[in-house]
Amino acid sequence: MKIAIVGTGYVGLVAGACFADSGTHVTCVDVDEQKLEKLKRGDVPFFEPHLAELVKKNWPARLEFTSNLPAAIDGREVVFIAVGTPPQEDGSADLSHVLKVAEQVAKAAKHELALVTKSTVPVGTNQRVREVVEKHAKVKINVVSNPEFLKEGDAINDFLKPDRIVIGTDDDRAYDALARLYAPFNRQRNRILRMSPKSAEIVKYAANAMLATKISFMNEIARLCDVAGGDAEHVRVAVGSDERIGMQFLYPGLGFGGSCFPKDLRALVRTGEELGVDMAVSRAAVAANEGPVRYLLDHMEKDLGGLRDKVIAIWGLAFKPRTDDVREAPALRLTREIVKRGGSVRATDPEALETAKERLLATSGLDRVTLLAEPYEACQGADALVLATEWSEYRAPDLPRIKASLRGRHLFDGRNVLVPQAVADAGLVYRGMGRPQLG
Ligand code: NAD
Repeated sequence: MKIAIVGTGYVGLVAGACFADSGTHVTCVDVDEQKLEKLKRGDVPFFEPHLAELVKKNWPARLEFTSNLPAAIDGREVVFIAVGTPPQEDGSADLSHVLKVAEQVAKAAKHELALVTKSTVPVGTNQRVREVVEKHAKVKINVVSNPEFLKEGDAINDFLKPDRIVIGTDDDRAYDALARLYAPFNRQRNRILRMSPKSAEIVKYAANAMLATKISFMNEIARLCDVAGGDAEHVRVAVGSDERIGMQFLYPGLGFGGSCFPKDLRALVRTGEELGVDMAVSRAAVAANEGPVRYLLDHMEKDLGGLRDKVIAIWGLAFKPRTDDVREAPALRLTREIVKRGGSVRATDPEALETAKERLLATSGLDRVTLLAEPYEACQGADALVLATEWSEYRAPDLPRIKASLRGRHLFDGRNVLVPQAVADAGLVYRGMGRPQLG
């Protein structure tokens, strides 16, 4: 089968590489010529484990890159839309890229095809795409919703072994085409769930809202542990041992970030407002997510006697390990806030230094922020260290070396990954998220 994917970002490129690796001929389309040039040199423009190998293996035999959309969709049975749907001022998803691509595909299509929205879009978007298509197309185009559930950091595995493949369509031909396309990832058991486009659109937001709610809930419990004198680690394990609750997404920390949870929750709340449905739980999950960074800052102020003229080392800038994505990363919020309160930051990350630099330059600037490749160098002369992203290389650090590098003694474990007693034994003061202070 030959397909095209419009939008070659985290989702489009991962989907393209995985489909190509399963034998499908894929043409990836993007408007970003610089990105396409990089890809044509075999250079993947962002960090995602194993993606570069997969791209190199399949390009150019089964995986092509172009900015020419009309040529890319010619002869294709399935065309995906995987462009961004960034948040607007009021929280709603910006659908302009999706609708623009729908119009371009409709105008250029010379034969019947399935136009499949993989971007995360609010309920009702399939209908809007249909209206655009009906206005501009001269041939039959079947509009399908196929939300994507991959996680950055584990995207290839998620795509190759999905928990479920949601296909929202009322057209049998389009459904059959997608079932054939996904067959290589659907061998072990049937993972395809067919439903209406509206249900498919809601599934994606509901899943993200549920996961984000788990995180916000556990962060609230961690704060209670802190104030009451409990240990959030003991509570987490005991609560998560209940199979109905489960262990995943129950880790107290600095809150959720990234390109999906914050934006999708706000979009869901906004959709509720538009439809007159109060999304109280999702709204609370968003509001609660502001809590952990603020709480940590207040503790730092108290422990360090204010942040003015203090130097804070930060380990980890990406919103989670195994990605260079810093969109809405708690570590960047923390960095900006420390600077705002008069301190300065020496930050490090194994993969996200470039993306963090770009984002900081685009927002608050790099004033009083030093980005360093070496974690112990980041500690040099700092009053405290904050572990903000739980990269594996930060989980068993050389504590005496940290102690020797810092000028202060405080270690704030924003992800509860260190052993408090070991930190205290090294002569440092340990403070976690909802855990008793030691040292
Ligand atoms: P991204 O910003 O990494 O990539 C989007 C790409 O689309 C960019 O390369 C951009 O240049 C391109 N683009 C924009 N307008 C275009 C146009 N008119 N024609 C061709 N290309 C165009 O975004 P992403 O993270 O891949 O997310 C894409 C969608 O998938 C979003 O709706 C997102 O919510 C959803 N999603 C993302 C993830 C994730 O983990 N990143 C997971 C599931 C779903």
